[in-house]
Amino acid sequence: MGAVAPTRVAIAGSSGSIGTQTLDVVRAERGAYEVVALAVGSSIDTLIRQAEEFRPAAVVVGNEADRARVQDALPFAEVSCNLTDVVGPADVVVNAVVGFAGLPVTLETLRAGKRLALANKESLIAAGPVVRPLRSVPGAVIVPVDSEHCAIHQCLRSSVDAGMEVRRLVLTASGGPFRGRGRADLAAVTVADALAHPTWAMGPKITVDSSTLMNKGLEVIEAHELFGVGYDAIDVVVHPQSVVHSMVEYTDGSTIAQLSMPDMRLPIGYALGYPSRIATPFGAIDWAATGRLDFMPPDTGTFRCLALAYAAGRAGGTAPAFMSACNEIVVEAFLAGDVPWLQIADTIESVMDSYSPTTPRDVDDILEADRQGRAAACRRLGYPEVG
Ligand code: MG
Repeated sequence: MGAVAPTRVAIAGSSGSIGTQTLDVVRAERGAYEVVALAVGSSIDTLIRQAEEFRPAAVVVGNEADRARVQDALPFAEVSCNLTDVVGPADVVVNAVVGFAGLPVTLETLRAGKRLALANKESLIAAGPVVRPLRSVPGAVIVPVDSEHCAIHQCLRSSVDAGMEVRRLVLTASGGPFRGRGRADLAAVTVADALAHPTWAMGPKITVDSSTLMNKGLEVIEAHELFGVGYDAIDVVVHPQSVVHSMVEYTDGSTIAQLSMPDMRLPIGYALGYPSRIATPFGAIDWAATGRLDFMPPDTGTFRCLALAYAAGRAGGTAPAFMSACNEIVVEAFLAGDVPWLQIADTIESVMDSYSPTTPRDVDDILEADRQGRAAACRRLGYPEVG
């Protein structure tokens, strides 16, 4: 067997939960991957430490003030403030930026005809109509890093004609820290309560989204965009153990599921290695220690964000971008202690009620919908409006 050149990996958002776990996978798969670019927003010390270990040729920081300092610390790297500079040197780009800010990485990676390991669901959700045509650029491929979508991606490989054979997608949801609780019981929950996720250790934004089931709602839209399945054929089932990561039901009655212990390094490794599987196991199941797997329907009366996301997805056009932007503002307000947990869904619902989505023609229309969503949420919360 001849020596195979390592796959060149770029990570946008390298200091966060997905970014650091991507580096874990690269470390474990020594020789198979080479880190060629890293980008962070403001976690400069983490970035410098990572770059000293992995020696990437390109490094991106969030602002000019940090750039000079980072360039001094990393003389071997080209340091810039342009997030999309991570794409050029890479074979596969891991987009682990938090929120809508990840959109340029998604667009540039697909435009360049490269593999996108997508952990930034907001970019696909907000900009679905703009991202869709870029997926036919030769070489451009999206491999989802979200555990549910990675599971579905794997399950779909058992079909020769998914367009004809898939009856429905079933996304599993852990239910988050407040599963089983009613509205009255949730009036006084704190930020710390919402951040105590039972099965996954993630960043604060996605953890709050898990507590409201907005994360699952965003994942429904993400599944629609990724796999081209209609909303009536995407179901959500609560599965507290987070061992079954999602399922595909076929026309013949078969359900194919992907199971593993909750460990994001598995979907990250899947996206890095695709179409091959990596050699290092993450999250393999010890069946002797696995007691039971439970499934139940979601409580959309209490966790209304799930229903709001379905409605935005069905409305289509700019509605998902608007809703996701609004959610980002309200979640920030909750994390800052400015609004109670129940007001997250209430605010999004009331703001969405007075929004009329349009069909976006380009990225500018998406940016405008995002801006409007943020502004509307700020007005509703009594915040001064930000650009
Ligand atoms: Mg997920």
